[in-house]
Amino acid sequence: MANSAAGRLYVVATPIGNLGDFSPRAGDTLRTCSLIAAEDTRHTGTLLRHFGIATPTVSLHDHNERQRSPELIARMQAGESIALVSDAGTPAISDPGYELVGAAAAAGIEIVAIPGPCAALAAVSIAALPTDRFCFEGFLPARAAARRARLESLGAEVRTLVFYESPHRIVDALEDCRDSLGPERRAAVARELTKLHESLYRGSLAELCVRSRLDADFARGEIVIVIAGRPPAPPQQGCAELDRVLGLLLAELPLKQAARLAAQLLGVRDNEAYKSALRLKQESGSS
Ligand code: SAM
Repeated sequence: MANSAAGRLYVVATPIGNLGDFSPRAGDTLRTCSLIAAEDTRHTGTLLRHFGIATPTVSLHDHNERQRSPELIARMQAGESIALVSDAGTPAISDPGYELVGAAAAAGIEIVAIPGPCAALAAVSIAALPTDRFCFEGFLPARAAARRARLESLGAEVRTLVFYESPHRIVDALEDCRDSLGPERRAAVARELTKLHESLYRGSLAELCVRSRLDADFARGEIVIVIAGRPPAPPQQGCAELDRVLGLLLAELPLKQAARLAAQLLGVRDNEAYKSALRLKQESGSS
């Protein structure tokens, strides 16, 4: 239950490049709250000056968020309303904010979203890849071994994948995506969204890797990678392959174990593998 005497925490999205995306409601909120907690006060200062907003700011970044949150919570409990912004886009999305939002929720302070730009959502909305289900993976690990391990763990993911990536690593990251997820996977690379040099590259991972090596612009600016999830196996081929693998496993293992192993090997559902295993057992028993 929110404490009605307390102020609120407003989580305010700001432009990811184009100042025209700053919403009137974001402006009103930043103008009328008592304090703005900003990832970088100098960066946010430029935005505030542009819109003639004179509200004081305080810094809240990855390295001081935990220490600073209690003081901000105390001010909201005393009745002040505070706005949280990051350098660009939606706070707490690969940006500081999670600690403060968590502490405010625990203290029963009302938290209000002032939604707006978010690079991940902007990229998904124009990638022309399935949008009914997608998963946001933030930044891939910078080190190659950890990055490949993360991608391998996502190999069977059927939802569309969304990553933030730095321009310095885009070529290596795309090549790791191709090697771990398969060269045919459809993907899109969105660069500099909402800015002057906005561009969107679509193609298979193999095609995007070639392009990333040929086109110097590819590795400039801010980047979101969107990759289609694992395509479903063609039904006929899937069945035949499942039967073949089960046939081999059933010769060596009990039915349940063979079914579970086949499901893991082929990425099919346990009960699908179990039903096929039963059918094969029955067929071989009746012959
Ligand atoms: N909170 C932000 C949001 O809502 O999008 C994301 C902050 S994260 C620290 C910064 C990353 O977001 C960049 O490295 C890039 O991957 C992505 N990004 C931010 N602005 C972008 C833009 N205009 N075009 C493409 N990607 C962008």
